Amino acid sequence: MRAIVLDRPGSFRVAEVPDPTPGPGQIVVKVDCCGVCGTDLHIMDGEFPPTPYPITPGHEFAGTVAAVGPEVALDLPVGAPVAVDPSLYCGYCRRCRSGRDNLCENWAAIGDTVSGAFAEYVAVPAVNAHRLPEGIDGQLGAMVEPLACAVHGLRRLGPLFGDSIVLAGAGTMGLLLLQLLVHSGAGPVTVVDRVPDRLAVARKLGAARVVSNLADLADDRFEIAVDATGVPAVIDGVSRLLDRGGRLLVFGVAPAEAAMSLSPFRVYNDEITVTGSMAILRSFAPAVELIGSGAIDPRPLLSEPLPLAEYGEALHRVRTGQGIKWHIRP
Ligand SMILES: [Zn+2]
Ligand SMILES: [Zn+2]
Repeated sequence: MRAIVLDRPGSFRVAEVPDPTPGPGQIVVKVDCCGVCGTDLHIMDGEFPPTPYPITPGHEFAGTVAAVGPEVALDLPVGAPVAVDPSLYCGYCRRCRSGRDNLCENWAAIGDTVSGAFAEYVAVPAVNAHRLPEGIDGQLGAMVEPLACAVHGLRRLGPLFGDSIVLAGAGTMGLLLLQLLVHSGAGPVTVVDRVPDRLAVARKLGAARVVSNLADLADDRFEIAVDATGVPAVIDGVSRLLDRGGRLLVFGVAPAEAAMSLSPFRVYNDEITVTGSMAILRSFAPAVELIGSGAIDPRPLLSEPLPLAEYGEALHRVRTGQGIKWHIRP
């Protein structure tokens, strides 16, 4: 089969590699679509420390069951459409045993630490596969993974009925978070992004107000601030817009060495809550349900998928902020 192989950071090729065969408890998925995300840029740049090289990346994917290995008890017949939770955790470390699998001491993930889905086929644990409902194609199915991250984020934040919200960043994650917030009973959501096209999509998806600059909100105060940019200056900026009693969700991935300037006096005196959210925690099945029912509609975010040979072009488009969400269809 053909697959993207990164031999080392900065260097990839479309390679002919052996077809995967399913081991015990595994299935092989014929990949229909696999999303390109910020993590794939970090893996290309050698900035995602758990990644070993060479590797085939790709962790946001859906397809159909192509082969079933021994010891698979689930109902996953050949041809069934599935999306795959890429999370791999040990189940026995202290954090797994306290229900925090996403913080596993032995954390791994399909497409991040083991072979992923920028390939025609990928072998995965059958328990990670979720059947897709009728009418959900591979590209929509590949949006379950990012939505599952957003579901985990809002669970971390807790109830938000009627709360006023400022959301920074109208990329894929920001726009999925926006839809979830609106769907979850939030009060008015104000979206901040520099790109007018993205703000137009945010408007269509339920933003009460859109602005291109945080300075436009200098006189406003919000009960909840959500960062989906990972830019430290933006995280500081939205923190300053929090009302007393406010809550900050740090969802975007900031550089590991960056610091934020939130005032400890404010955290004390205004009872500010800061919450982080890392990847997926038992939030994949709800995300399948939300896309399957149409409650969350990722279609306004999607561009026409590109073939495997255009992987470099897809990375370039993500890096330069063209479109919103790009997929590879191997
Ligand atoms: Zn991703
Ligand atoms: Zn663990």
